[in-house]
Amino acid sequence: MSGGNQKLQEIRPITRLLCHVYTSWVVLLLGLVLTAAAWYATDQSVRAKAQIRFDNRSSEISSAIYARMNGYEQVLQGVVGLFHASENITRKEFNTFVNSLKIKKNWPGIQGIGFSIPVTVGDKAKHIREIRNEGFPEYTIKPEGDRDEYSAIIYLEPFDWRNERAFGYDMWSNDMRREAMTRARDTGEASTSGIITLVQETNTDVQKGFLTYLPLYQDGVSLETIEQRRKAFIGWVYSPFRMGDLMTGILGSEQTEIEYEIFDGERVSKETMLFDSNKSSHEEYPLVAGALMKTVALELQGRKWALHFTTGRNAQGVSESRQPIIVAIVGLVVSFLLFFIVSSLALRQKYTEKIAQNMESELRNATELALANEEKAERSTDNEIISEILSLSILSKSLNDTLEKALKLILSRKRFKHFGMGTVFLFDELTNKLHMAAQSNLAPQIKSMCTEINLGQCLCGQAALLRKTIMKFCLDHDHEITFDGINEHGHICEPIQSGEKLLGVLNLYTPHGHHGTEQELKFVKTVSNTLSGLIKQKRFESELAIALDTANAASEAKSAFLAAMSHELRTPLNAVLGFGQMLQFTPNAPLSPNQNDYVENILESGNHLLKLVNQILDLASIEAYQIDLSLIDLEANEVISNCVNLVAPLGKKRSIEIVDQFSNGPLVHLFTDSTRLKQVLINLLGNAIKFNKDGGTVTIEGTETDYGYLRISVIDTGIGIAAKNQSSVFNLFHRVDADSMIAREGTGIGLTVSRLLAERLGGRIDFESEEGLGSTFWIELPLANNDDVLIWTEVIKIGVDTIDKDHQVLVSMVNRLMRRSADMADVDEIINELIEYRIHAVSFHSRRSNYGGL
Ligand code: ADP
Repeated sequence: MSGGNQKLQEIRPITRLLCHVYTSWVVLLLGLVLTAAAWYATDQSVRAKAQIRFDNRSSEISSAIYARMNGYEQVLQGVVGLFHASENITRKEFNTFVNSLKIKKNWPGIQGIGFSIPVTVGDKAKHIREIRNEGFPEYTIKPEGDRDEYSAIIYLEPFDWRNERAFGYDMWSNDMRREAMTRARDTGEASTSGIITLVQETNTDVQKGFLTYLPLYQDGVSLETIEQRRKAFIGWVYSPFRMGDLMTGILGSEQTEIEYEIFDGERVSKETMLFDSNKSSHEEYPLVAGALMKTVALELQGRKWALHFTTGRNAQGVSESRQPIIVAIVGLVVSFLLFFIVSSLALRQKYTEKIAQNMESELRNATELALANEEKAERSTDNEIISEILSLSILSKSLNDTLEKALKLILSRKRFKHFGMGTVFLFDELTNKLHMAAQSNLAPQIKSMCTEINLGQCLCGQAALLRKTIMKFCLDHDHEITFDGINEHGHICEPIQSGEKLLGVLNLYTPHGHHGTEQELKFVKTVSNTLSGLIKQKRFESELAIALDTANAASEAKSAFLAAMSHELRTPLNAVLGFGQMLQFTPNAPLSPNQNDYVENILESGNHLLKLVNQILDLASIEAYQIDLSLIDLEANEVISNCVNLVAPLGKKRSIEIVDQFSNGPLVHLFTDSTRLKQVLINLLGNAIKFNKDGGTVTIEGTETDYGYLRISVIDTGIGIAAKNQSSVFNLFHRVDADSMIAREGTGIGLTVSRLLAERLGGRIDFESEEGLGSTFWIELPLANNDDVLIWTEVIKIGVDTIDKDHQVLVSMVNRLMRRSADMADVDEIINELIEYRIHAVSFHSRRSNYGGL
């Protein structure tokens, strides 16, 4: 599990729960349920409160109306009392009394207090006259007209302009009034009329109204029966009420949260409506849903009223009525907020997890990439190490030294660097044991204990015996060779084999607990193969060295033989030749013709033998690099011309024409040894004449090659060389069994010497030939301006043994330089190799000024 995931696991359970994708939906559901519950509870509470308030308020209003109306009745009773107290109440007294009541202030709503009396048809005129006499000339009973009975308002205080309109009014003439007046007269109780329009009303602010009557009877008479009451009846004390003014007086004019309508009678209808507390509301604002309403019956002075209450548009008071909605809105907002918070938490969590996962996979990719890069880097390091080990093969080091160096290179690898410890064992077939050949950083105890190891002993012995890799990541019982206080470590022991043949064991120390990787094992196996090659090569080299030693000894013997020959053969040979010539030229004793023939034969054979000896000696010294070359810049034209002149007499003898097509041509400069060039050319020209037909031709041509060489060709029209013999022409002592005369002249050494010389001069020699038609022998030498050729002039004078050690470097150098593709980088590399191998004994003559100091 990655670090990122662990972190996620460590998150507290509550947070993890919050971050769950379903939690947000649960939260939303809970929120909605709670909101609904809260809304319901609030609504119920508001409703209950509103109901209570509504009930209270409607009761208050009914009570207030009732109480006030009773109060008015008391006022009227007071007026009745006034009449009882005095026999004749004058207008003035009435006025004084009513004024003292201060009805406007104390009894708001009462339009006035009046007194009306019944007037019979017979009394009507008298009545009008009397009142007019009181100072009201306009007075009359209204409305005009004849009726059976009349009544007349004679007092009405306050006698203001509005009440004045009612002065003299016949209330009996109106049914509604009459009904109440009758009831009051007959019952003796206060009596309220139904809906009327007061005569005081003008055209503006017309209000509905009613009247309350209280009967006034004579004192001291029985009022038990209707007849008695009718008989004792004097008049009506009454009060007109304008409904609007009355209700304002009772309840004040402020807007209340409750609306009410007052209906006359028990029926709630438009026609019977006395009062509407909010006239406009019903038209403009229909009752809100859930509005409260109730109708209460009220009996006032014998008249029933119906009070209809509603909560109207201000149902429960704005703020309160909105409470459930507010609660619902707040609840919804909070629920959705919580939902969004929790779902965004979950989303965030998911996003974070995704990022964490992405990061983790990126990290994994990066790690894999890093590992791959590391592996790649290690692989390339491995390759470098192996190529370095391979390059050890060209070093002239002993096998053990080479293995020591190889081991150091192996241990430079990152994994094995840790200890830097290892061993290379070589297997000895004779003793059947492993012998330590190289080691690095071994503990002294191990070093001495592991000098020799039996097959099967300890880890290396097992690897050798089983021919397989032994890998250990700790010290276990297989690790037989040990000592007290040895450090914990692991091993990789790899057998070094050549096919099935065991050559040794490579033993590397690894860190404790380290299990080798595939790459590592691959490396160790490759290294083991490389070491196998190295061991075989070094062993081959040492076998070769022994062979060369033997050859060297043989060569020395040959040199000794040649030296002896040169001395031992040439001395007697010169003596034989000398005495032979003396025999020919002794005038005192001339030889017989037969004797002369014999001496001629002796001299010819002796000269041939001397030539042979000289050529063999020359060859021997060239082969042994014991000739000094004297390189100079010369004109090839001159050298060739000289050679042609030298051999011309020979040709002449056999009428062979020598055609020189080169000497007189453009000058060609060579940087070469003049004497040795002449030696080669004379040999080629001599052969061209020798193996020519009488009267034949020898042509000399010279052409510059496109790789900076001069090719000198000697073309003859002679016998040619049979195809079967062509491959052995340059072999020592090769001679074609030809004409006996020619055969006698040849030695079969000339071309061998010529090839050696051509090579020493940085050139080459070869031929083309066709039997019976002739041959073309040519030599190629570098032009003087050819900077790509390096010729050493002073041979190594350190014998065959030394030559063998450094020979490879020199030969590789020359070969590479002779290649046409050789470039400056090759030269630099070789120079460096030369410096490394410190071949100070060899001095080079370089055509290249920048290498001139070497
Ligand atoms: P020799 O002293 O016999 O000439 P060389 O080494 O010069 O020795 O030649 C070796 C042999 O090569 C000769 O014996 C001859 O058979 C053959 N040879 C050399 N040059 C020619 C040539 N121009 N034509 C034919 N054969 C040749």
